[in-house]
Amino acid sequence: MPELPEIETIRRGLGPLVVGRRVLGVEVRDRRLREPIAARSLARLRGAAVTGIRRRSKYLLLDTDSGLTLLIHLGMTGQLWVADRDKPRRPHEHVVIALDDGRQLRFADTRRFGLMHVVRSDRLDLHPRLKGLGPEPLDGEVLGERLWRSTRRLKKPVKNFLMDTRAIAGVGNIYACEALHRAGLGPRRPVGRIARPGWDRLVVCLREVLNEAISAGGTTVRDFLNAEGNVGYFAVSLRVYDRKGKPCQRCGGSIRRIVQAGRSTFYCPRCQH
Ligand SMILES: [Zn+2]
Repeated sequence: MPELPEIETIRRGLGPLVVGRRVLGVEVRDRRLREPIAARSLARLRGAAVTGIRRRSKYLLLDTDSGLTLLIHLGMTGQLWVADRDKPRRPHEHVVIALDDGRQLRFADTRRFGLMHVVRSDRLDLHPRLKGLGPEPLDGEVLGERLWRSTRRLKKPVKNFLMDTRAIAGVGNIYACEALHRAGLGPRRPVGRIARPGWDRLVVCLREVLNEAISAGGTTVRDFLNAEGNVGYFAVSLRVYDRKGKPCQRCGGSIRRIVQAGRSTFYCPRCQH
């Protein structure tokens, strides 16, 4: 499943190809996603110019000058890319959005867990998928303080907290494990028992690992033009994730795997407390 760094990479790659372009038409070739595509709603984008592409958690938001925003989630296997008009169709292309430069923004999803919704831009915050999402890990200078304040009496383990999108948006399992290791925080530590400097350190480590992954993506505009829109997983150098029984690079101790809230957590019991 694409995680935050992959989505951010797609956002950066697509930006120069779609921002400023006008939508000439929207063709829904296959509306069968888990939440079926509302073709009539998507057709309302016709004539609108794309003014920006943003990311919120793992959602992409294409804003337009008509007061409508296209909300996109790539689910497990969704792909989004720009192709010249005459490029042959590929299997599982659900939506083709014709742009005024002769190109097309295409969306394909083999496993159909993706999502495409047209939402009024001024009501985005009320959309069920976006409502209640926590702050973005890469935004804002006061995040450490905000997290510290909001957790003073909570007993929730910090790993579970990082995975809760209402607490902080879109971190994902790999990056939660890696950030905790870098910050030296045990995954089971109750959030209420992490002091202010601990939160500051955790936020720094979280940003570090997410930004490393984004850089590792090394995307260029070309990756999203006439390509398959595939970004895959980025090769961040993982220090704990999926390294059960292997030595910790910091202390030489053995990496352990536990299960928290149904997800694997990898950590070093010697240097994470
Ligand atoms: Zn260690």
